[in-house]
Amino acid sequence: MNELGDEMNLAARARQIGSVSRSLANDMSRSRVNYWAAYLVDWSCVFVFGYLGWRRHPSWTSILISSVVGLFVFSLVEYCIHRWLFHNKKSVFYPLHEAHHNQPEETASGLFPTSFLVLMPFWYLLADVLHVPGASFFLCGFSAGYVYFGTLHHLEHTVRINQIPYRWLQGRWAAHSVHHRIDETNFGVMTSFWDYVFRTHQKQRKRKSLAA
Ligand SMILES: [Zn+2]
Ligand SMILES: [Zn+2]
Repeated sequence: MNELGDEMNLAARARQIGSVSRSLANDMSRSRVNYWAAYLVDWSCVFVFGYLGWRRHPSWTSILISSVVGLFVFSLVEYCIHRWLFHNKKSVFYPLHEAHHNQPEETASGLFPTSFLVLMPFWYLLADVLHVPGASFFLCGFSAGYVYFGTLHHLEHTVRINQIPYRWLQGRWAAHSVHHRIDETNFGVMTSFWDYVFRTHQKQRKRKSLAA
């Protein structure tokens, strides 16, 4: 009987610890300090992987090809995570992304060391275990894609579209604004390429003319 009581106590304590750590992670992910610390960590990934690649004395062609492939692969990963993880109601990431849709101007991001902790094991596997040529610059390009995505997305919610100088950039603003209104469309933030491929692209609806 005592053993059963002990087990129940342990289970209750584990639930309590789980709920406290969830709410702590939730509060942290919405704090400004975490938001900017994450940005700093994302930038440092670009330099760390660049440095790790540079130490192996690669050719400029290899640097260029690996970085561009990393950037391209990131654009697909960005699309997939946004569409099938962030917009999936069963996913643990759904509440954080829903909070962004409800209050787009608020700072919210994953916990700050996430990009480093996720990418470092990949680097170890690709570069150190499998010896894939150009692995470090692939991850450098991949991280640069993430920084570009983060910067663009931040500016899309803080700078008005009529203050944007280039037409193609205004296109990115418009596409993301459509996503915030029709959330099963325009999942790509850095490019609409994958939205065309997966047929989720939605052009901005023209306003009906006042005369009509
Ligand atoms: Zn957004
Ligand atoms: Zn979304």
